Amino acid sequence: MKIRAQIGMVLNLDKCIGCHTCSVTCKNVWTSRDGVEYAWFNNVETKPGIGYPKDWENQEKWQGGWVRKPNGKLEPRQGGRLKILANVFANPNLPAIDEYYEPFTYDYEHLQNAPEMITPPTARPVSVLTGKKMDKIEWGPNWEDDLGGEFSKRSKDALFEGIQKEMYSAFENTFMMYLPRLCEHCLNPACVASCPSGSIYKREDDGIVLIDQDKCRGWRMCVSGCPYKKIYYNWTTGKAEKCIFCYPRIEAGQPTVCSETCVGRIRYLGVLLYDADKIEAAASVEDPKSLYEAQLGVFLDPNAPEVIAEAKKQGIADSWLLAAQNSPVYKMAMEWKVAFPLHPEYRTLPMVWYIPPLSPIQSALENGLIGENGIIPDVKDLRIPIQYLANLLTAGKEEPVVKALETMVAMRRYMRKKSVEKVIDESTLKGTHLKAAQV
Ligand code: SF4
Ligand code: SF4
Repeated sequence: MKIRAQIGMVLNLDKCIGCHTCSVTCKNVWTSRDGVEYAWFNNVETKPGIGYPKDWENQEKWQGGWVRKPNGKLEPRQGGRLKILANVFANPNLPAIDEYYEPFTYDYEHLQNAPEMITPPTARPVSVLTGKKMDKIEWGPNWEDDLGGEFSKRSKDALFEGIQKEMYSAFENTFMMYLPRLCEHCLNPACVASCPSGSIYKREDDGIVLIDQDKCRGWRMCVSGCPYKKIYYNWTTGKAEKCIFCYPRIEAGQPTVCSETCVGRIRYLGVLLYDADKIEAAASVEDPKSLYEAQLGVFLDPNAPEVIAEAKKQGIADSWLLAAQNSPVYKMAMEWKVAFPLHPEYRTLPMVWYIPPLSPIQSALENGLIGENGIIPDVKDLRIPIQYLANLLTAGKEEPVVKALETMVAMRRYMRKKSVEKVIDESTLKGTHLKAAQV
């Protein structure tokens, strides 16, 4: 057993209000520089949507992540080391700037210097890349959010065309949710495997994945190789850059900037202990639907006496051990099983986990479709299709997601009884997957 500590994050999607404060504060601190104007180490997507960069989840197109070969071995999708080296001079799988967006500022000077006119002057967008005024902006991060206007116009048109009934019944079934994204600081990072110059590494102490700027040669195989498209090329320095999990802050005992400034308080940071010897087997399991459970299998119980003894023997610092024992990430991912990794089928064993949004069952709750015990009788009644959430979080396996939602309903009822009605009623939890002892 090779014990390692890993810092991870859980995001409770029900609490995200899509305000983008996390993205803006991250940008101000880390990417407010020449060459990375287009880069958002943290971005917030409206789902279902094609995301940033466009279509990032299409692994066949970008050749990201790992694939399991017929001989059982895992390989980066771009091919083995030799193929990656051969690709270096003609990396064919890079998103172009249009897939991100053309960064722009505004012509603020015009506001001050415009000649007298009847209408007030406006500050037109100006491309940061070319310095030229832009006729219109056609794409940007989280563009899907803005497309709401387009949908409203269509519904208005539909009214005039007398087809409102069909149109509105279609809208009744629409759904959306926010998905904040950052580098996953994977246990089995495809970026590390696809870097020909060996400049990307995973820190031994806390698992944060970093790029050695002195070693990076700007070949960008990591950009293709990362299935989450969370590495960005700096056009000024000619080097690759990525989220550093705010390691200078973590080392000083502070949370990441995105966590500290999150308006919805949706982010939880915590330490997990894992067995590094189990990584390869967990990432190579045959059935993609078993990858979520396989990932759970690499984590160790930080309160088990044999794990504590072995961790101490292997030099895990007492402070990290204590952090693992009090880790909200361990509780939510391992004990309560309400948080899931994003796209486990990419086989990188990501370490940013998500609690699925309760919003799909809110309407079901209001319509009395969910019983007193919080059990969901028929997942078909839910607004966000369970299959959609399962495809995002458990490689298509619905059962763990349904159980997590039921647990969250039970928890919500319990807390409401306790804090609003002042009733401590353990029976609220009976028949659910949440035991009173866990509250
Ligand atoms: Fe590497 Fe981060 Fe991409 Fe994982 S998410 S492969 S650690 S850049
Ligand atoms: Fe969501 Fe928090 Fe980011 Fe706002 S700051 S978009 S609530 S994750």
